[in-house]
Amino acid sequence: MTRTEHIQALLEDYARQRATDELDQDRRLGEACAKAPRIGALRQESAALALNAMRSILDESTPEQRAAIARDMKARGQAINAEIRALLKAAGLPEDHLDMRYRCPVCRDTGYVGEAPARFCDCFEARLRLRQYEDGSMAGVDEQNFDKFDPSVIPEADGQRANTVAVKKLCEEYADAFPKNRLRNLLLCGEGGLGKTFLLNCIFERVTSRGFSAVRITAFRMFEAIRQQHFNSGEKFEGFSALIEAPMLLIDDLGTEPMMRNITVEYLFTLLNERAAAKRHTVVATNLTPTQLKERYGERVASRLLDRTATAAVQFKGKDLRQR
Ligand SMILES: [Zn+2]
Repeated sequence: MTRTEHIQALLEDYARQRATDELDQDRRLGEACAKAPRIGALRQESAALALNAMRSILDESTPEQRAAIARDMKARGQAINAEIRALLKAAGLPEDHLDMRYRCPVCRDTGYVGEAPARFCDCFEARLRLRQYEDGSMAGVDEQNFDKFDPSVIPEADGQRANTVAVKKLCEEYADAFPKNRLRNLLLCGEGGLGKTFLLNCIFERVTSRGFSAVRITAFRMFEAIRQQHFNSGEKFEGFSALIEAPMLLIDDLGTEPMMRNITVEYLFTLLNERAAAKRHTVVATNLTPTQLKERYGERVASRLLDRTATAAVQFKGKDLRQR
């Protein structure tokens, strides 16, 4: 396995751990709500608070107004938390019963630390070294760029090589044309193991080496920025705003991130919508088909992702390169 593949496998492991953490917390929440039903309503209010405040903050013009909204929301958030803790105590449960319990509290089981573009947490680096040591692939850390593209590794059968070469050419032209692209956005579709991540990384490398600013992020890490934005009640907006404001944003593996009901889709729509309104460039790689994108994210998000007036969609075809 290459380093990138180890990273992908580890990120999936972290995603599963996060899902387990969430389920565990859900279970404790159910237990608490059975004893004190008002906790459910308070949690809902708390969740709505963050989203409403974010909308207001995007609308408001002056820094003073933004600060006032953030202050009000923080105060209400703290009051809600205090009430929940009191209710838990009265129900005979620990006050921290609903706090998340992580395998690694430093990265909260995301594998990442810091704002976008983030770096891997120490726990992640340690696991990565172990995996690479175990399969003897420690050497060969791959710097991915267009010059490293090697058509000979791609099967010729069924036009896979020809298709990938054409897609690579399109990606390279897109990266070279930035920011004067005829179509601002690029959607890379196809099953896993066909080289989407490689070409997304190549675009990032080319655009940044031409001196432009770009942010590359996995959908999982984007989800994490959304989650922090949502639950930190107005305190930290840097992570999510950085995604809105990046001149070029590259999202890898859209569709693999966990879904928080009513939250992931709302924020993703806000992100895509704000970026479209400001005419910023967005590159998305996904294993999902257009139909699956609609099913997962709904009509509004899908129409942003698939908007033909602003987006070039390319389809990867063929067999998983990792299986060879
Ligand atoms: Zn960690």
